[in-house]
Amino acid sequence: SEPLRRQRVTVLGATGSIGTSTLDVIARHPDRYQVHALTAHCSREGLLTQCLVHHPSVAVLAEERDAAWLRDCLSHAGLATEVRAGEAALVEAASAAEVDVVMAAIVGAAGLLPTLAAVRAGKRVLLANKEALVMSGALFMDAVARHGATLLPIDSEHNAIYQCLPPEHRGGLSRHGVTQLLLTASGGPFRGWTPERLATVTPEQACAHPNWSMGRKISVDSATLMNKGLELIEACWLFDARPEQVQVVVHPQSVIHSMAAYSDGSVLAQLGNPDMRTPIAYGLAWPERIDAGVEALDLFQIARLDFEAPDESAFPCLRLAREAMQAGGTAPAILNGANEVAVEAFLAGRLSFPGIGELVGEVLESLPVEVGDDLETLLAADARAREAARSRLDRR
Ligand code: NAD
Ligand code: MG
Repeated sequence: SEPLRRQRVTVLGATGSIGTSTLDVIARHPDRYQVHALTAHCSREGLLTQCLVHHPSVAVLAEERDAAWLRDCLSHAGLATEVRAGEAALVEAASAAEVDVVMAAIVGAAGLLPTLAAVRAGKRVLLANKEALVMSGALFMDAVARHGATLLPIDSEHNAIYQCLPPEHRGGLSRHGVTQLLLTASGGPFRGWTPERLATVTPEQACAHPNWSMGRKISVDSATLMNKGLELIEACWLFDARPEQVQVVVHPQSVIHSMAAYSDGSVLAQLGNPDMRTPIAYGLAWPERIDAGVEALDLFQIARLDFEAPDESAFPCLRLAREAMQAGGTAPAILNGANEVAVEAFLAGRLSFPGIGELVGEVLESLPVEVGDDLETLLAADARAREAARSRLDRR
């Protein structure tokens, strides 16, 4: 058979949970992939270890101080990796001419500009960084179409739905006979808890997810159900769905990763073990399939699949996200910015667990929604939301 040209991959957020899983899949296929760039915020030791294994052409850290340290270590090890610092270097690593594939796995709004740069450079973009899309939905999807980027969702639910839709699904779900997207949710570690008990939740409890091992921010989002809210918004943009067309279904086993319902009564589901290497391998190899290192699903061991409705009164974040999507304009950017500040404050012990939803709700109520969807307007809305959240925190 014809020899493949190896795909050159940039991993934004390489040292995180998704970044590490991505490098695990890549290492299984040295004939198909080679690493162009690896980036991290400040975990320089972790990035050093990854550079020694994957020999990237470029490595990026946030601060020049850390970059200088890494540069020194790598040159002692005899590697020619170019080490850079700062946001311009991130954007360059995401959009360089020699890059084919970009894994967007930075957490939060910090990933927006490099992810957008990859889209604008027409790359194959594997989107884990849901906050980037939530903040800038219309602008982001418009850039995908305009620049001919290939956008593949890595969030397990959206990857599942992608697999359950016809190959060409643009132009509205109903054109393809799809009536509803069924977004499954584990319900998080506090499913079924009363509001009184939720008030006692600690960061350690919130970060111990029953089915998935993830970064701290998304773990807290999963516990508040804000993650499902962000995913609802993400689904609307990715699949051209209205918020009413996305139904959240609590499914504690996390075996069905999501579903698409069709007008003839068919419901298509994607199942698998809860291991992010499956959607990552799907995104890397699409439309082909490759080994992801994931164990085969054993249905006899799983034995049963349960479903229930989400409790939106104990977990208001899901409702806040749906309302923000319905409001449109800058509302999702405000929701996301306020949530990032609230989650940080909760992790730092400055805000209670129910305080997260309260704070996000207060910020959304206090700020006007603007219709503009240009980058300046969105970044300004994000900044205002953070400022409003911080000043409310100080007054609490
Ligand atoms: P993580 O905290 O484990 O890793 C985040 C990565 O981003 C790290 O490499 C970190 O160095 C880098 N980073 C953090 N802040 C940065 C900044 N300001 N500038 C540049 N780089 C920065 O997070 P994760 O769990 O891997 O999640 C990454 C993204 O993927 C998130 O948007 C999350 O919602 C999404 N996601 C994660 C999972 C999962 O299973 N972990 C599943 C679905 C979606
Ligand atoms: Mg998900």
